Amino acid sequence: MTFDSLKMEPLFRADARLEIEERETTCQCQACGNGFTITDKYWFICPSCEDLRAEVLSGRELYIEHYQGEEIAAE
Ligand SMILES: [Zn+2]
Repeated sequence: MTFDSLKMEPLFRADARLEIEERETTCQCQACGNGFTITDKYWFICPSCEDLRAEVLSGRELYIEHYQGEEIAAE
């Protein structure tokens, strides 16, 4: 299937549903090495030393857990 044919045909039915699961963001402080998770806001401050240089270890990913529905029959 080419990209042009994907543009021509709708990929999902009109009644398709998208479910998004929020995941925790895990960071590690670059100053003191403290590991912490961000659950509330996107506020990347180390709770231990209040340094702003936190490296994001996980939580960047966005994926579709599952897609449920019927394929649109080709006519
Ligand atoms: Zn720190």
